[in-house]
Amino acid sequence: MKGNSSSLRVSLRLLSAGLVSEEVIKDDTKLVGGSGLSLCDSNDNSKKSETNKALRNHQVLLAAHLEEAAELAAMIQGLSWALKLVVKSIQFFCDDDSIILDYVTDKVAPPNESIVVAKLLKQLALLQTSLTSCQTLPLQRSDDDINSSSLIKLARDAIASQTTWHTNTEEYETCPDCYAHVSPRHKLEVRSGYFHPICFTCIRD
Ligand SMILES: [Zn+2]
Repeated sequence: MKGNSSSLRVSLRLLSAGLVSEEVIKDDTKLVGGSGLSLCDSNDNSKKSETNKALRNHQVLLAAHLEEAAELAAMIQGLSWALKLVVKSIQFFCDDDSIILDYVTDKVAPPNESIVVAKLLKQLALLQTSLTSCQTLPLQRSDDDINSSSLIKLARDAIASQTTWHTNTEEYETCPDCYAHVSPRHKLEVRSGYFHPICFTCIRD
């Protein structure tokens, strides 16, 4: 989906979700991150554009406050993405009950040991100066439930896209249940709690 250029001149809402999950890739367990991003019309909330990205920032993946760091990194990716689309006026949203909203709006400073979180907040503040208008608002949970679940799905897809590897002829993934290396052709369904499908043998069992 691509917004047309006239719609991108008005103020848009930016919604983001950042996730990190422990994934088995080949025989290693790694932390893998992904973000889901969506730009919506600020009047009628219709979706203008959406995308997802891998979160590869090692500082984020090693951060003490991993969930907060992942959410902030997703917001940074979201603002950079909006700027590339020449959006100049943004309302972006944080969970109502999230400490991130307090950090971003300067109500609360992150604790001293959250070095990565503090760095990300600085990066976010710097990006905001490139916009003509940027408001941070609390997310109204009930209105945005559908939006949040589609964002989480986008973030999960970004994670799943990083868990495969290739040989000359085939693509492989590790079954999260039995750790077998299987071709995605032999994997069927996504079970709740997993970001990617389990293998045929596990489904039969
Ligand atoms: Zn299996």
